[in-house]
This record gives sequence, C-alpha cells and structure tokens, in this order.
Amino acid sequence: MTKADSIPSHNFICNIIAEDLKANKNEGRVATRFPPEPNGYLHIGHAKSICLNFGIAAEYGGVCNLRFDDTNPSKEEVEYVESIKSDVRWLGFDWGDRLFYTSDYFEQLYQYAVQLIKKGKAYVCDLSAQEIREYRGTLTEPGKESPYRTRSVKENLDLFERMRAGEFEDGSRVLRAKIDMASPNLNMRDPTLYRIRRVAHHRTGTRWCIYPLYDFSHSLSDSIEGITHSLCSLEFEGNRPLYDWFLDELNVYHPQQIEFARLNISYTVLSKRKLVQLVEQGHVTGWDDPRMPTLGGLRRRGYTPESIRDFCERIGVAKRDSMVDMALLEHCVRQDLNQRAPRVMGVLRPLRVVIDNYPEDRVEELEAINNPEDPSMGTRNVPFSRVLYIEREDFREDPPKKFFRLAPGREVRLRYAYFIRCVGMVKDEQTGEVVELHCTYDPETRGGDSPDGRKVKVTLHWVSAPHSLEAEVRLYDHLFVKANPSDEKDSADFKTCLNPNSLETLTCCRVEPGLAGATPGSRYQFERLGYFCVDTKDSSDGALVFNRTVTLRDTWAKIEKAQKQKGVAVHGSPLSVVRNVLIYLADEH
Ligand code: ATP
Ligand code: MG
Repeated sequence: MTKADSIPSHNFICNIIAEDLKANKNEGRVATRFPPEPNGYLHIGHAKSICLNFGIAAEYGGVCNLRFDDTNPSKEEVEYVESIKSDVRWLGFDWGDRLFYTSDYFEQLYQYAVQLIKKGKAYVCDLSAQEIREYRGTLTEPGKESPYRTRSVKENLDLFERMRAGEFEDGSRVLRAKIDMASPNLNMRDPTLYRIRRVAHHRTGTRWCIYPLYDFSHSLSDSIEGITHSLCSLEFEGNRPLYDWFLDELNVYHPQQIEFARLNISYTVLSKRKLVQLVEQGHVTGWDDPRMPTLGGLRRRGYTPESIRDFCERIGVAKRDSMVDMALLEHCVRQDLNQRAPRVMGVLRPLRVVIDNYPEDRVEELEAINNPEDPSMGTRNVPFSRVLYIEREDFREDPPKKFFRLAPGREVRLRYAYFIRCVGMVKDEQTGEVVELHCTYDPETRGGDSPDGRKVKVTLHWVSAPHSLEAEVRLYDHLFVKANPSDEKDSADFKTCLNPNSLETLTCCRVEPGLAGATPGSRYQFERLGYFCVDTKDSSDGALVFNRTVTLRDTWAKIEKAQKQKGVAVHGSPLSVVRNVLIYLADEH
C-alpha cells in the first residue's frame, strides 16, 4: 500500500491533531489504537475505525496499536482474535509489534482499583444486580445511595482482596466507584468497576475470578499505552466524564477522547449482536456468507481491500449519525474491479443456438480483449463453433418496443465473433417454451465488424456449447428489504424485514473454457452481467462456483450525477440516507 492510500481525507479529527502537533502537545507524538472486543467478526463499520486509526497514525508519523479488549471472557475468543488479526492484515494494515491485550493489564488495573479504594473513591457493594439497577434511578430521578457506600477503606480493601481470592459467590459482590448518585449523567452514579465471574479466560486461564468492566479497563488501557488520541464512536460521549474521572483520580496519563459517528449502511445491519442472530438462527450460512457486511463476507463476495479503503475514505468522518447508501460501497468495488478484473464470457441462463450455415466440425479461435481499460492485460482466444449458448433473456419471440436484442428475423452481433440472424425456433411441445434457436451467421463479419457498414443495435455475450464449462452462480440482493432495518419499533424485529430473495442460485450456467481451474478468490467481469468472484469455500477444479459481487448497473453514479446537476442542493437534500456522502462529494469538487 502506498502512503497516499492510507492517508485519510481531511476531517475534524485531523484538524484537532494538527492543532495538537502545532502546540507540541504530547511532545509531538501521535498514538492511536483499534480496540476490538474479541466477541465476533469484524464488519465494515470496524473497517471505518481501522482505516481512521491506522490512517491517522500513518499520516502523522505516529503509531497505531491493535488491542484486544478481552475483559469479558467467552468461549470463542481465540477464534475471534485470529480472524480479527487476519481481517486487519487483509485490509492492508500492520500493527508491527504493537499487539496488546487488555488482559495484559489485569494486575495493573487491579492495583488502580486498590488505589481508588485507598482514596475512599471505591467501595465493595453487596446489592444484587437487580437492586443496583433499581437504586440507579432514571434520567428524571436521582439514584439512591447503596447502604454499603460508607464501608471503611480497611473493610473495602479486605473484601476486594477476598473477592480476588475467590472467597465469594459469582455475582454476590461488586466493586463500585464512589462518585455521585445524583449526577444527571447516569454513567457517574457509582458505576461498577469489578465483578466476580468464574469463567476461564483465553489468556489468563483461571488466574482471575474477578474481571474489570469495560469503562474502567478501556480508559485506563488507553492511558497505559500512552494513546494520545482515543477515537471512539458517538455513543461513548456520555462515558467521557467517567473516563476523565478515573484518569484524574488516579493521576495518570490522560489521552484525549474524540467521538465520531458510527457507520450505518442502508439495507444491512452493523451490530455484532444482530449479525450473530442472523448466523445462529440460520438466516445466512455463516459469518462469511457473501450477503453479510462482515469483512469475511465482503471478501468472499469479491470485495477488494482497496475498494473498502476507498469507501472508508469517501464517507469521511463526521460528528453526526447518518446512513450511507449501499450503492456507494458497490460503486467503490465496481471502480476498482473495472481497472483490474479480466473480462470473460459466461451465460447464466443458457439458451441453445445452432448456426445452421456454420460447418459442423469447424472450431475457430477468436481473439478477445482481456480488459479494455488496461491494454497490458492482453488478449485471449475463445472458441466459436456451430452450437452456442446465449442468455435466455436476450431473446424474445415477441419483442416489446425498445427490446433490441435477438428476435425472429433480427440480426445482432456476438461479441468478438460474427453477426447472426435468427431464422427459426424449436419449442417444447408441452410447455411451448423456446428451447433452441436456429440462426445463420455472416462470414464477412468476423471479429464483429460488418464490411458493408451494416449496423446492429446490440452485442450479445455467448459461449461455445461443446467447449464451455458448467458452473454454479450465486446472485445476491440486499439482505433486508428496508433501508433501515433497525428502525423497526422493537429493535428485535429487524429480522421481519429480511429479504426472502437475497440469494438466487443458478446451477446450469456455462462459462468460457479459459476459466477451467480458476483460482478461488479470483475476480472477473462477466461481460454485461457484473463482477464475479470464484467462491473460496465451495469452488474446486471439478465444480466451479461464482459469487456475483455486483452488477454493472451503477446506481450511485446516477445519484451523484443528479446531485451534481442540482449543485448545492445536496446540503438540503431530503435524502438523509446519502447526505453525509454527498456533502463529502460536494466538498471534493
Ligand atoms: P457492536 O456494538 O456492534 O457489537 P462494538 O462497537 O462493540 O460493536 P468493538 O469490537 O467493541 O465492537 O469495536 C471496536 C471498535 O470499532 C470500536 O472503537 C468501535 O467504536 C468501532 N466500531 C464498531 N462499529 C462501528 C461502526 N459501525 N462504525 C464505526 N466504528 C465502529
Ligand atoms: Mg464494544
């Protein structure tokens, strides 16, 4: 990756950092981190955070840590840790030797908690989880102080030590910060710092039976690592006063927290809690189902890391929540693959065509261009013979107005081959369905040009029937039928708007013979049909399986063009779905 690739477009966070550098804050140091919780696979929202944190470090000559926020032990952690590491690498980022785990700091965090107790700023509380919730109050009512709040420092130290030693039942006691039960900010109402949980941890095993809570461990881990700019999503704005309180009370290095808007994309969900339900309830085939917005799913679908980085750069970073149109993500991969995906011909729903005047035993090798965008990719030969397949939907017996493809009596061009004219059809006697076409070809039009200047309106893709290979092709549509599935009144209802037609599997497709043995993960443009990627799980030498990444129809380019024509109207656009991006695009020009 070049440096230019990794530089994030300018945004309010870059402005803050530039000011800090000018003022020589942190002695000119810039340190960021990407802090995933190893409880699921990464999705495109995480990619935004990864590009931002690693991109900023690269731009300002700083460092970016990868830190696993592993304070909440669960069974699958090791699997998640490995997949997260490989996804970050795949996206094109490198943490070098700066791989950390919050669990590395368990002893130090424990000591911080002891310090708070000694200062009279933390206490062991015996209320049940339910009681703690009740005592907490609401946004409109102050909370109530715990009867254990006034325990002596000595008693707290003793109890906390015994919590660590495993003397008490899970859930019987917690350590809480002593802040302010009347604070208008609920985060400040004596939040829990430690709880007892006898669960083995993937790194510390059974050494600990008490685990620190997220707010406490997260802010202090940033401090321990000397993170200068702690970037997090907007929902943590209300936690900032609590983080400040920990850092001030303990008098330790104080990273600056800056909040930015999470990424939301239309027609999908970006919450691990929701994604896991889709997997566990069998709505998709797994975390890497090509319909999933996970990095594993996007990769399997055919997305390139470059296209995802490009997307993250285009959406920019804002302080306000918004939703980005899925069409922009698709536009980015189309742009990228247009430059580098070789063109091939494949027929998804084959219709047999016999060229009556073409000799039965003849086979010609016709030259085809691999990528018109990049002449260095050269040419290849594709075989042409008397029996071909074309796309079923490229023929109509009774063509409606504006249907310019093949029809009885009509002439069209076959890409890189000849003009053909339809002279007859064979129908299934029972269903009346057209099962075979008879055509004639014009030998003068070899290569697709007519010497007499005769014009045809349409060029069709095709394959030679005896030479072509069978393939399975999976076509995808949005996972949800609603732009914002999380808008459902009850957020648990998001699955009610799942798209029942998000996957269509075609098993009798035919592709040109050059695709024999195509490498899993390799990407192609099937002429006129879109970009396709050889499936990495189900494809093998004997059984070709392709996933369609995207069609060639660029709805985003249309939106962009319309908006550009309207000029400044983008700012007042009722299309809140795309507003954020449009503002960015408008700024760019
Ligand atoms: P979820 O709540 O959906 O399960 P999370 O935010 O808890 O996700 P983490 O593994 O804790 O997931 O996230 C690691 C980092 O990625 C955090 O800094 C978080 O802010 C960021 N992140 C997660 N989702 C998004 C998103 N949609 N847009 C931008 N950043 C995100
Ligand atoms: Mg989280």
